[in-house]
Amino acid sequence: MQNFICVQCGTQFDATAEPPLRCPICEDERQFVRHEGQAWITLARLAADHHNRFEDEAPQLLGIGIEPQFAIGQRALLLQSSGGNLLWDCISLLDDETIKQVEGRGGIRAIAISHPHFYSAMVAWAKRFDAQIFLHAQNRQWVMRESPRIQFWEGSTFSLWDDLTLINCGGHFEGGTVLHWPAGASGKGALLTGDIITVVEDRRYVSFMRSYPNLIPLGPAAISRILKAIEAFSFDQIYGGWRKATVLSNGKTAVVRSAERYLCAISA
Ligand SMILES: [Zn+2]
Ligand SMILES: [Zn+2]
Repeated sequence: MQNFICVQCGTQFDATAEPPLRCPICEDERQFVRHEGQAWITLARLAADHHNRFEDEAPQLLGIGIEPQFAIGQRALLLQSSGGNLLWDCISLLDDETIKQVEGRGGIRAIAISHPHFYSAMVAWAKRFDAQIFLHAQNRQWVMRESPRIQFWEGSTFSLWDDLTLINCGGHFEGGTVLHWPAGASGKGALLTGDIITVVEDRRYVSFMRSYPNLIPLGPAAISRILKAIEAFSFDQIYGGWRKATVLSNGKTAVVRSAERYLCAISA
């Protein structure tokens, strides 16, 4: 029995003797099935020719991403906090060097994930570091590897330790979640967003989509909901789902400015 991983989206599945027939995450209209056909890999095979790169993105914030790029190429963020470390989002590869690096920084108390495209090998990570996983209940149908470590939370916010807060924004996914880190940006606050609020190439801006690869936009109600969800939180920086996708200052103004531009574009 193996926990096969989808090559296109990086999601690890429940253990089976044969690879699963299909990947519901890739068949969803927000993703796509690999052009060459559905393909699978195991963690051991992935580790044979890939490794993880570690890069401090800010004090107490370590980026961990797979090289060469695998699946959708995101990096996870290990947020180091006095009450325990939180792994924000996740990746498919976990190897000995990664375990050493993460343990050297105090391990992982819990994993929280923005949306299903970053679920990847979350259960493998949680088991190895004896961590809990926090997912929004409205994304439950997209969990491909079940585990008693997964705790589904409901509603608009969920408080963790050290004033860390998970915020449900919806949008890209109904259970789409961002993390507020008040100690980030030297105490001015930071938002970790995956692609629920995605940082674009012009890093004074962010954007919002139902599907990024298939270019399906969101409507005005979804944009207002995102703005309302983050309204009560102050933050200066935004860390998106990929390396260097960071709004370095005036993050909250950037979200408001970007939402105005977006609404203008879709109503033209
Ligand atoms: Zn997939
Ligand atoms: Zn996504």
